[in-house]
Amino acid sequence: MKLKYTIGLFTLLLACLGIKAQETAINKNSFSAINLSYPGLEKVNKLYQATQYDDAAKELLNYYRNRKTVKHPEFNVGDEARFRGKDIGKANQVKADNALEHKFQPQKGYGYYDYGADINWDFWPVKDNEVRWQLHRVTWWQPMGMAYRSSGDEKYAKEWIFQFRDWARKNPLGKSKENDSYAWRPLEVSERIQSLPGTFNLFVSSPNFTPAFLLEFLNLFNKQADYITKNYSEEGNHLLFEAQRVLGSGSIFPELKLASVWRKSGIEVLNREIKKQVYPDGMQWELSPTYHVASIDIFLKAYNSAKLAGAEKEFPESYVKTIENMVVATANMSFPDYNNPMFGDSWPIEKASRIKAFAAWSKTFPANEEIKYFATDGKEGALPNYLSHGLTTAGFYTFRNGWNDKSTVMILKASPPGEFHAQPDNGTFELWVKGRYFTPDAGCYLYSGDAEINKKRDWYRQTKVHSTLTLDNQNMVITKAQQNKWETGKNLDILTYTNPSYAELNHQRTILFVDQKYFLIIDQAIGKATGNLGVHFQLKEDSKPVFDQTKNKVYTTYADGNNLLIQSLNADKVTLIEEAGKVSYVYAKEMPRPAFVFEKTKKDNGMQKFVSIVYPYDGNNVPEIAIKENTGNDYEKGYLNLTLTIDGKKSELKTSIK
Ligand code: CA
Repeated sequence: MKLKYTIGLFTLLLACLGIKAQETAINKNSFSAINLSYPGLEKVNKLYQATQYDDAAKELLNYYRNRKTVKHPEFNVGDEARFRGKDIGKANQVKADNALEHKFQPQKGYGYYDYGADINWDFWPVKDNEVRWQLHRVTWWQPMGMAYRSSGDEKYAKEWIFQFRDWARKNPLGKSKENDSYAWRPLEVSERIQSLPGTFNLFVSSPNFTPAFLLEFLNLFNKQADYITKNYSEEGNHLLFEAQRVLGSGSIFPELKLASVWRKSGIEVLNREIKKQVYPDGMQWELSPTYHVASIDIFLKAYNSAKLAGAEKEFPESYVKTIENMVVATANMSFPDYNNPMFGDSWPIEKASRIKAFAAWSKTFPANEEIKYFATDGKEGALPNYLSHGLTTAGFYTFRNGWNDKSTVMILKASPPGEFHAQPDNGTFELWVKGRYFTPDAGCYLYSGDAEINKKRDWYRQTKVHSTLTLDNQNMVITKAQQNKWETGKNLDILTYTNPSYAELNHQRTILFVDQKYFLIIDQAIGKATGNLGVHFQLKEDSKPVFDQTKNKVYTTYADGNNLLIQSLNADKVTLIEEAGKVSYVYAKEMPRPAFVFEKTKKDNGMQKFVSIVYPYDGNNVPEIAIKENTGNDYEKGYLNLTLTIDGKKSELKTSIK
């Protein structure tokens, strides 16, 4: 008993010494980042002027422990009771408790790894760059703060303060070029300055949060926000995230001398970028639905944090109007379950979380009835007064016969070149019928890393794993898809576009949405190039298709009767070949799925065409479909005169497609 007590005391003493030993002495310089004439810091300033630096720091801590003038969107001082004893969610609790043992999950696609008693911040367990980069987002710190608020257990506070100092000591800026390339990668720095203020508020009332630590914290925070303003990423969503977080830093810590510089810098970048990155149709130029939505949130978050600082008037009216257009574009490229196609690097989302996003957007745009409709899952507001709709600069074309779960919706991409998150996939589409995705995009699987990881990522980027035309299975080049025709009507929607996919080969694709029921796809390969042409299709992993090589048709066999037939209607010879397909709905997780191609050879200058029908149907009787070219039908000139016979029923299709 006595021994135990002595050891306990000894450990306690060591622990105190440990903390003390790491404390940086407070001096005049410790306050250099702080604007001591900021309203509310009068007492701090008085002590500082009297060179009573320890007392000034104590007073500053006192200020932050009682600060009510600045609101954090989630975590604030003084709302301890809101969290005490409350469940913080299993995932957060696991993150917090594992962190106590230095087990961190660097990236959500992978598991937890042991970073050692003496934390090894260089440990790179999986050679995916995201694993090395995202470790430095220290995403478990905020859950530690939540666990602290909920339990009141000082072990979380002690450990967080230890880790904050450990990270700072082992990852100083300029330690090495390599270390800077991940620990000080601007996007990662911006993630930290975004989450740190919330974590700060969660821990600031802890007795372990000392005046010396406060100054260490503020100085490192200051250094990080300042660093970004001088090292912004060149473009894309990284730059947006960084600018928004720099602006946020200036709003959440207005007591820092650079706060107004940060706000100004963030606003300036966002103002410039929203004009550059958002097309007139409301789509963000990376052409990935996931990043499009992320951009909306960046622009809005920035606007709202400027509001907190009373600086929202520095944004022009056009800025807010553009965000509204982006929200409406999101609705337009949504399937009835609120998902967007997985074009480029994109993932599926939960309906509930997207409704929540629409609800948040609706608060900023209360007068917009369409946004209200999506925000309330149709309970309030109004649907757009149209069905099929094209976002014609971005080249996202939606064919739809309705907005509800009984509808047929196809979204097709025919875009200009996109930024980092785009893929060489023009012509590809996702088809959704009555609650089922029949042709999901492959997704993206992974980002970047060593050669092995990049190879896996590149598999998903290939043109041939998308539902479009290839020459010799090579990746297409995206320069600019030219829209030849986009016309919507009661019983016929027509899109024709031309993509200069390869040197000496243009791919002209026409999609006709006929009788609000089925799709006729006409692919023309135009130009001097010769080689093997293929029109690829991708099917859902559970579709159990039947491949009928004699009739060049493929059909799904869902027991509920909601099925799809894809058939080549070419009069000349094309060959149906099964291909290896894969799909990834979650980062770093993949599964096989059916895929196939209609192939033929192009031997000379002449145009080669593929005519395919994509026909959703009910039941287990596969429709019998035939096509006849009538006099005057001329694909090259762009005039259709066809007779389609479907289960014995004839219909004429007479229209110009260019
Ligand atoms: Ca994709």
